[in-house]
Amino acid sequence: MNRKSQMHEHLYEIHGNDPWTMTCHLLEYLQPFKHLPAHAVIGIKPNLVTATPAGHGATTHPQIVEAVVAFLQAGGFSRIKIIESAWVGESTAKAFEICGYTALSKKYGIPLKDLKQDKVVEKQVPGMDIQVCRQMETIDYLINVPLIKGHCQTRLTCALKNLKGVIPDAEKRRFHRLGLHRPIALLNTVVTQHLIIADGICPDPFFEEGGRPSSLQCIAAGFDPVLMDSWAAGVLELDAADIPYIRMAAEAGVGQSMQSIDQVVSLNTGSRLPRAHMPDHDPLAGDILHESQACSACRSSLVNALNRLKENGKTLIPVERIAMGQGHQGSTGAPDLLGIGDCTADFVCHLPGCPPSPEDISAFLRHCNTG
Ligand code: SF4
Repeated sequence: MNRKSQMHEHLYEIHGNDPWTMTCHLLEYLQPFKHLPAHAVIGIKPNLVTATPAGHGATTHPQIVEAVVAFLQAGGFSRIKIIESAWVGESTAKAFEICGYTALSKKYGIPLKDLKQDKVVEKQVPGMDIQVCRQMETIDYLINVPLIKGHCQTRLTCALKNLKGVIPDAEKRRFHRLGLHRPIALLNTVVTQHLIIADGICPDPFFEEGGRPSSLQCIAAGFDPVLMDSWAAGVLELDAADIPYIRMAAEAGVGQSMQSIDQVVSLNTGSRLPRAHMPDHDPLAGDILHESQACSACRSSLVNALNRLKENGKTLIPVERIAMGQGHQGSTGAPDLLGIGDCTADFVCHLPGCPPSPEDISAFLRHCNTG
């Protein structure tokens, strides 16, 4: 087996508390751009799902992307761009600013591409057409820089799911209507990621929106998103077999799940920091009984609102009375149901917003509880 195939069958992890230095060590070890032509157009896709700093647990540390950019520029690459589309309801421009990417762009002279402003191309895969942002057509080499993070619907978001940020908002909503797993797997058959650098510094193990970062202090690099995600599930103490899109992506030929822990090469064995034990998963994250095809942003706002009410000792509305999601569009719902978000606009009692903020949901539920 040649070095390239050997490298593709492995993941490389490093532990520490300095994302810049850790990323530099990974890149120096892997030399992933050795055979890439200098004129290649390189796209870097972080996870900037919300406009919150990386310490909040939802977004990629800019120091990791900065180290990648500096490494590329030192290697003679100049056609580099950072691409992203924040989640439904969030401004990507604001996320670039708050997360430190606008400053990074100015410092290194590289463009930021807000994919929400992009045109769309349609890709055909067996059984499904997928809308993808046109910028993806211009990229020769895609560096995916996801977080190893929890997700309130799919349980994990890492390399495979981070590509949801290269499709338009309307398509993101459709993915939710289709149950997420199969569309995520199929999206990965039409968009190829060439290098993955996964941020496990302080991700939130529960929610893609962050708020409860857990200090894991690791970064992992690899070339196979299925391998990366099957390993990342274990990092969050999840079973990869419980995350259908990983299996579906493997079946679609995107990559191969981890077979043995020997596939993980630690660059600093012996000096790793103790891994934080994952706290128990949030019971509120599980069952919102009348959820139907809700977007992540809406669902996460609701769970955050419920948690805030609970922390403040407020009496909670039973979750059985709460409804949300695209499956409720056009329905009036049962008379005692409280609708959250524009999708429940025809309910007798509903809160507008797409998505509504946690603050608005808290106020709405407090009002409903007393009113
Ligand atoms: S209201 Fe919520 S579920 Fe409906 S489209 Fe907007 S974000 Fe998605």
